[in-house]
Amino acid sequence: MNSTMISALNDLSDLVTEYRVMLGELLDDVANHWKRFENSATAHEATPHLDALTHLAHRIAGSAGSFGFELVSDAALRLERQLRPMIEGPGHSDAGKAELAGLIIALLEAPQTAHDHADAILPSQGHSGTLTASARKPLFIVDPHCERALQTASQIAPFGYETRLFHTVEEALLAVSEALPCAIVTELEFPSGLLDGTKLASRLAGTIPVIIMSERTDFAARLAVARSGCTAYLPKPIETLDVVNWIDELTGLKPGPDLRVLVLDDDRLVAEHHGAILRAAGMKVEVLAEPTALLQALDHFAPDLVLMDMYMPGCTGIEMARIVRQNRQYLGMPIVFLSVESDLSRQFAALSPGADDFLTKPIRPEHLVQSVRARAVRARNLRQVMETDSLTGLLNHAHIKNRLWFEQSRVERTPSPLAFALVDLDHFKQVNDRQGHLAGDQVIRSLARLLSSRLRRTDIVGRYGGEEFAIVLPDTDLTEARAVLDDIRSTFKRIRHHGNDGEFHVTLSCGLALFDATMPGDGQILAADEALYRAKALGRDRVETAVQKSALDESAF
Ligand code: GH3
Ligand code: MG
Ligand code: MG
Repeated sequence: MNSTMISALNDLSDLVTEYRVMLGELLDDVANHWKRFENSATAHEATPHLDALTHLAHRIAGSAGSFGFELVSDAALRLERQLRPMIEGPGHSDAGKAELAGLIIALLEAPQTAHDHADAILPSQGHSGTLTASARKPLFIVDPHCERALQTASQIAPFGYETRLFHTVEEALLAVSEALPCAIVTELEFPSGLLDGTKLASRLAGTIPVIIMSERTDFAARLAVARSGCTAYLPKPIETLDVVNWIDELTGLKPGPDLRVLVLDDDRLVAEHHGAILRAAGMKVEVLAEPTALLQALDHFAPDLVLMDMYMPGCTGIEMARIVRQNRQYLGMPIVFLSVESDLSRQFAALSPGADDFLTKPIRPEHLVQSVRARAVRARNLRQVMETDSLTGLLNHAHIKNRLWFEQSRVERTPSPLAFALVDLDHFKQVNDRQGHLAGDQVIRSLARLLSSRLRRTDIVGRYGGEEFAIVLPDTDLTEARAVLDDIRSTFKRIRHHGNDGEFHVTLSCGLALFDATMPGDGQILAADEALYRAKALGRDRVETAVQKSALDESAF
């Protein structure tokens, strides 16, 4: 759990405390209006109190459950159901009134115990998209051969894993009993002649993923491995990227940006509360209480999903959804309504202008998290299919250019350095010719993976062309960008690939350029391309920076 999630949990308990106070006030109001309703001499005198009671019941039904006060919420809901026909229909019978009295008492006396949902909303171990590589537990590598162990570690480390090496199964087991690793990669055979790797797997089955690597592909070995309950078996030679992909998948910690949710509810406390629940589950959340601020928030926060209250003063959720959908770029934005509305036909009316779903308040926190997560992930996946390249999962040519353009226009408004890099694999034609096209694809994928894991979250990576990549580095000057890219260059050339000719290494060249507002349209891309060309001409396997116009101006003096 990271610090944002812990502080969100603290916020949650503060909000529950704050809500408890507010609930007390709301229930006092209920008691007062009830007393005055009962004391009313005429129907005319009674009506405003009946209205107030309905409004209060509606409000409590919608909020109490979200804060875990489920019994209060149930009682309020029953009361509201009884009141609705009374305020809509003419007059009210004594029988109805007696029943109402019972419901009011049930509400006022409902036990105010808040159910604690903290455990249920925390992301489970297997969930992807919430934790970054740096938040990972170490990876254990168990191998009797020192040198080979070091080699494996040096191959895996660049992908963001902290590794710890062990030479015997016993040492590894001892370390596991002290602190759990995220996964274990072990050799199958040990000098004892025994298939000790399987011992590790059978001891840890079901607790930690164990990946066994071996040169043995015979049936006896395979059977022993299968019986051990190990998670994955990788026959050698092994592509580093395969191991990394396995670990990523098994540990469920594929690096990826957090899900982003915009919460809009005119009841500030409810909005904050839903926000805190989603944050505690690892999502990034922005909370709005003011419908008029929605469009601007969509622009700067770029959420994956909007969670919106159905009824707000000034405009309804349905109208808000129409406003959102009037913008072409938000046509696909999932909108989920959250409301006490239990009237089905109104729900369907809400769905028609493009709301994606309807959740009924009160909603249990874990259900809120599950519904929001499922829809946000689906929306993000869909967007990814449209915007990304299938071989690498990076942004495609059109979209990386869009993002560069977007960052450039931001820098024009609020100046800060913006670097752009073009990275191209060296002599890649030869790689394909000698090692085969499939091995070539694997090299492209491993560079994509390295770029994604090495760069910051704020950096944007795309596959610009066949074996060419583009990177947008906001808030980065040339010196910093150069250091980052040079580090990637030297890491990449150490990665071992396998092809028709056995093991091989590949180098890359990189051209860098800084944004300058006087540049014409594609000026920054052209400048980076020119620098890349120079890197190639100067012998490849290097990073070159563009000669900037401002530097030229200075040198003229
Ligand atoms: P240089 O160092 O000057 O960049 O030489 P190069 O051979 O890398 O450059 P060139 O542009 O001549 O060749 C690029 C090669 O990359 C040719 C093309 O077949 C290969 N390529 C492009 N896309 C892919 C791909 O998706 N998979 C594979 N395996 N190869 C690709
Ligand atoms: Mg090339
Ligand atoms: Mg090229």
